Amino acid sequence: MKIGLFFGTFNPIHIGHLIIANIMVETSDLNQVWFVVSPQNPFKKSKTLAHEFDRYDMVQAAINDSYHLRVSDIEFNMPRPSYTVDTLAFITDKYPEHNFSLIIGEDNLLSFKKWKNYKAILDNYGLYVYPRPTDSKPELADHPNIHWVDAPILNISATYIRDLVKRNKSIKYLVPDLVEQMIAQKKLYI
Ligand code: ATP
Repeated sequence: MKIGLFFGTFNPIHIGHLIIANIMVETSDLNQVWFVVSPQNPFKKSKTLAHEFDRYDMVQAAINDSYHLRVSDIEFNMPRPSYTVDTLAFITDKYPEHNFSLIIGEDNLLSFKKWKNYKAILDNYGLYVYPRPTDSKPELADHPNIHWVDAPILNISATYIRDLVKRNKSIKYLVPDLVEQMIAQKKLYI
């Protein structure tokens, strides 16, 4: 199967992430999208970062047994912080039957050349890129292993959602209902 990996902290997962993942599966040749949840980085302790198990559970709740969308905790058991290229090698080793690619936004493509072993990522895995507001066209835009997938641009971030929670405002419609309930029950982000 062709699988697109969507990396993030998902603190929490929101409709911006979900809409991109679903459009990728619907309109590209990817069979599945896996949300790869980043664990805590021991060198970047953050008070606002929910525990990785809670963030994983929220992704699981958001995708609700979908066949096409999956969640992965593979980085929880890797040395931290993990580089994308290392995770790609690890996941390919674990699932040799699948073909993995990376899903990133156009903004991240602009700085992609700074990523560890970016050439190996491009040559061995390939990228699926969705539009994001940028000031310039990424240099790598026309690379043959970059697949552009059209999708709406949603100006929603987890930071914005955490800020609403902190101010005791509703986050209805910004996250799936189950995620909203989990945040309330576990008293996350207050
Ligand atoms: P934060 O506000 O905490 O930085 P975030 O909403 O950007 O979080 P991440 O977990 O960092 O969420 O996102 C994972 C990936 O999804 C990142 O590559 C990020 O650029 C991308 N992303 C985040 N929000 C959106 C969005 N609204 N539309 C498309 N991509 C998004």
